Amino acid sequence: MDLTAADHRIPLSDGNSIPVIGIGTYSEPKITSKGDCLTAVKMAIDTGYRHIDGAYIYKNEHEVGEAIREKIAEGKVQREDIFYCGKLWATKLDPEWVRPTLEKTLSVLQLDYVDLYIIEVPMAFKPGDEVYPRDENGRWLYHKTNLCATWEVECHPYFTQTKLLKFCQQHDIVLVAYSPLGTSRNPIWVNTSSPPLLKDALLNSLGKKYNKTAAQVVLRFNIQRGVVVIPKSFNPERIKENFQVFDFSLTEDDMNKIEALNKNTRFVELLMWCDHPEYPFHDEY
Ligand code: NDP
Repeated sequence: MDLTAADHRIPLSDGNSIPVIGIGTYSEPKITSKGDCLTAVKMAIDTGYRHIDGAYIYKNEHEVGEAIREKIAEGKVQREDIFYCGKLWATKLDPEWVRPTLEKTLSVLQLDYVDLYIIEVPMAFKPGDEVYPRDENGRWLYHKTNLCATWEVECHPYFTQTKLLKFCQQHDIVLVAYSPLGTSRNPIWVNTSSPPLLKDALLNSLGKKYNKTAAQVVLRFNIQRGVVVIPKSFNPERIKENFQVFDFSLTEDDMNKIEALNKNTRFVELLMWCDHPEYPFHDEY
C-alpha cells in the first residue's frame, strides 16, 4: 500500500479506516500553558494530520474540540476527514458509566461523535469524580470490574512488539503505537532507566543516511510495518517534522537493523499500580 501525506488511511476490518499517523495530545498539565494544545492541533490539521489522539484525563480535550471545530468552520476539513480517538478513564469502567462518560467527552469536545473510544488503562479505580483516588494513608483505591480489555500498546524500536504485531496481523487488527518516540521522559510515570530512544546511535546514523532525523526514522519504521503512530508534539517545527515521513522508505536491511534494537523494555510501566489485580504488564503479549 502506498501511503502519502495526502492519503494515508489504513483500512479496518469493519469498513472504516484509520490515518496511519496521528498527533498525540498528552502534555503534563502543570507545565503546559492554556491554549498550547489548541494551537498545536490547529497546526497539525494545517500540516495534514487527520488523526488526533486525546483523552478527558489530559485536561485539554476542550482545546482539541475547539481546534477541530475551528478548522471545520474555516472550511479546511470536514468532520468526516478527522479521526478522533477518546478514552474511558479507570474510575469509569463499570458498564453503567461508559455511556455517560462518553457523553461528557462529546459535550467537552462539542462534537457529535468520536471515531474511536478506548479503555485508557485496563485497571479499574474506585468509581467517582476523584480521578486518582487514594485512601487517607495515600494508598491507591482499586476497584474490581469484569473487564474485557481493549488495549493500545506502547511500540517503538526499543519495544518492537513483534509477537503481538504478528498476532494482530493474523487477525486483521490494526495496532496503534503510543509513545512512538520514547515518551517525554516525565519521571513521574516513565521508566527513565532505559536510555532515550532518539539519542540511539544507529537511529541517528540512519537519519544521516536518509537526510532525516532519528524521530522521522522511528516513525517511518512503524508506519512501514503497518503500525499507526501518534507522536505528541506541541512544537510547530516538530509537528511538521513528524509528518514528513511519507517521502522516503527504509530498506529491508535497515528495517531489520532497527528491529534488532529491541530491548523488550517499556518506558510506560505504570509501576505505581503494579499491585493492582488487573495490572496488565506481568503478562507476555
Ligand atoms: P512520544 O513518544 O510521542 O514523545 C513525545 C515527546 O517527544 C515530547 O516531549 C515531545 O516534545 C518530543 N518530541 C516530539 N517530536 C519530536 C521530534 N521530532 N524530535 C525530538 N523530540 C520530539 O510520547 P507520548 O508518551 O506523549 O505518546 C504519544 C501520545 O500517545 C500521547 O500524547 C497520548 O496522546 C498517547 N498515549 C496514550 C496512552 C494510553 O492511552 N494508554 C499512554 C501514553 C500515551 P515537544 O512537544 O516539545 O515536541
